[in-house]
Amino acid sequence: MTDSTNTAAHAPVFRPGLLDGQVALVTGGGTGIGLGISELLAELGAHVVIASRKPEHLDAALAGITSRGHKASIVPLDVRDPERVKAVVNDIAEAHGRIDLLVNNAAGNFYSPSATLSPNAWKAVVEIDLYGTFYCSQAVYPIMATQGGGRIVSTSMTLHYRGWPLMAHATAAKAGVDALTKTLAVEWAPERIRVNAIAPGPIPTEGVRKAFTPPAASGVPDVFAAAEEKMAEYARKGIPLGRWGSPRDIANMVAFLASPAGDWITGGIFVIDGGEWLAKAQP
Ligand code: NAP
Repeated sequence: MTDSTNTAAHAPVFRPGLLDGQVALVTGGGTGIGLGISELLAELGAHVVIASRKPEHLDAALAGITSRGHKASIVPLDVRDPERVKAVVNDIAEAHGRIDLLVNNAAGNFYSPSATLSPNAWKAVVEIDLYGTFYCSQAVYPIMATQGGGRIVSTSMTLHYRGWPLMAHATAAKAGVDALTKTLAVEWAPERIRVNAIAPGPIPTEGVRKAFTPPAASGVPDVFAAAEEKMAEYARKGIPLGRWGSPRDIANMVAFLASPAGDWITGGIFVIDGGEWLAKAQP
């Protein structure tokens, strides 16, 4: 098996039908990492409900998954609206009788100097990343508690493990997601709700490549530089395992946590990054 490309991560590693009968809600599941998660969960037999704002993201994801014979549905949702979140979650529970897995993946991001970050920009990112994660988790709680358990996997990051300039909004929000994960894991364990987080390293999705272009002369590395040779150089020098990650690398961890293998795992924050942040932490 080679590990020098994404091929190994793309080959199926879970048994077919592993998640048969499960119902999963994936926020922001129509693009990038969320789409990779939605596709894998559906491939393994779950019915995946994808929730986000833009119809073009939802429609394309639904068409892709169902054209391969897997089960999915879509619902428009802005995770910043707690009443709408509750309504969507209750509709899913009514339609399917249960919700086994919530993947909090929706997020917004962009580079901005903290000194000039507007209150609205700060609010937008913190509300999507942190408040949205809380609203969705709180909404699924009564359903999972009543059905005898469930799994919540929230999407964090690694940039807040050190200082990361120009990203105060997202790093603060994701640090909050980590704290929320640990607190809910303990608080909701009696109801057998396992609460974990995943912390992806750099995955060159279209979303981050648009959002992560640091202002010139900011000193922040342009890790998602459009030029392929620059990306290859970063992978070689900045990522110990020598390659960029793919949505499937991240999705595999979600499938593991959703499977019976995740039965005794709660409160964990799983870094999936080819060793990138540890290498950055070296002097
Ligand atoms: P992406 O493709 O831009 O994904 C973000 C998703 O969130 C989109 O599908 C978007 O869909 C949805 N979304 C945004 N605002 C929303 C809202 N208010 N309500 C509901 N949905 C909303 O980026 P990505 O790279 O796949 O990132 C996915 C997750 O991984 C994020 O949590 C991100 O912070 C995390 N992450 C990514 C990386 C990376 O390198 N890619 C690294 C660390 C962590 P709509 O526009 O349709 O709403």
